[in-house]
Amino acid sequence: MSDAREPGLLVDDVSVGYGPVRALRGVTLEVPSGAVVAVLGGNGAGKTTLLRAVSRTLGFHGGAVTSGTVDFGGRRVGGMSADRVVAAGICQVPEGRRVFARMTVADNLRAGALGSRGSRAAKAAALRRVHELFPVLADRAQQRAGLLSGGEQQMLAVGRALMAAPKLLLLDEPSLGLAPLMAARIADTIREINAQGVSVLLVEQNAALALRLASHAYVLEVGEITLHGRADELAGSDEVRRRYLGVVDETAASDAAAATGGSAHTPTLSRWGGAR
Ligand code: ATP
Repeated sequence: MSDAREPGLLVDDVSVGYGPVRALRGVTLEVPSGAVVAVLGGNGAGKTTLLRAVSRTLGFHGGAVTSGTVDFGGRRVGGMSADRVVAAGICQVPEGRRVFARMTVADNLRAGALGSRGSRAAKAAALRRVHELFPVLADRAQQRAGLLSGGEQQMLAVGRALMAAPKLLLLDEPSLGLAPLMAARIADTIREINAQGVSVLLVEQNAALALRLASHAYVLEVGEITLHGRADELAGSDEVRRRYLGVVDETAASDAAAATGGSAHTPTLSRWGGAR
C-alpha cells in the first residue's frame, strides 16, 4: 500500500477551454493517496476534459487550462509535458479502449512501458503483475489486439497503463459498452489494482458501478462540480438516485414531501461550495 501521508492529486479551481468553448469552470477535487474517487456526469459534462487536464493531454485536443492548478505528490503538474506526467506516476486509460489493433497484445503491453523509467527487472515485474491480473493477456500474447473482445481490449488498455507502474490511474469510462458481467469483472480488477496501492480517479456514466468502487465521488454538470461527498451518501441521495442511478420512486418522493410538510426532501449532502 502507498503511504497514506503522501499527498495525492489535488485539482484546485481549474478551468479549461477549447478555444471559445469553456468545458470546465472552477473545478476542485482531491484524490487522496491510495483512494478510489469517482466523477459522475452525463454526456458532455466535462469528465474526459478533467482527466486530460490532469494528464496534460489537453493540448493534443486543442484545449488548455485557463486557470487553476493541478498538483500530484506535492509537485505541480501544470507545465509538465504529458510524458513527464507519466514519469511522475500518472497514467490515463482513454475512453473507448484505444489499443493498437494491428499490434500484438504483447507489443501493446511493451508500448505501455516505453514512457516508464523503470529498470528492465521492474518492467518484467510489471508484466508479470499484468498477466496475474489478466491471464487472458498472457494466453493471447501473440494475437493481434484488434481480435480481442471488447472486454478483453479494455483489460489490455488497463494492463498497458499498468506497465508504466503508475501511482495514480485515470480511468475514462472503463465499463462503457461492456456487458454487465464483463463490467463487473473490470470493477473487480480496479478493486484489486487499488488494493495493490494504486490510487484511482474513475470517470463513469455507470454511476452504480462507480459508487460501489469509490470512497468519494463528485458530480460534474456542464463543466462544474455540483455535488460531492462520500460515495455511500451520494448513492443514498435522492438527486443522485433519480438522475444517475435511474431510480424512479414517485411514492417515496411524495411520502418524503408529506413527512417534511410538503417541502421537497432535503438531501443530506451539501452543495458544492468550493471547500475541499
Ligand atoms: P462524454 O461522456 O460524452 O464523453 P464528457 O463528460 O467526457 O462527455 P467532455 O468530452 O470532456 O465531456 O466534453 C466537455 C465539453 O467540451 C463538451 O461540450 C464538448 O463538446 C467539449 N469538447 C470536448 N472535446 C473538445 C475538443 N477537442 N474541441 C472542442 N470542444 C470539445
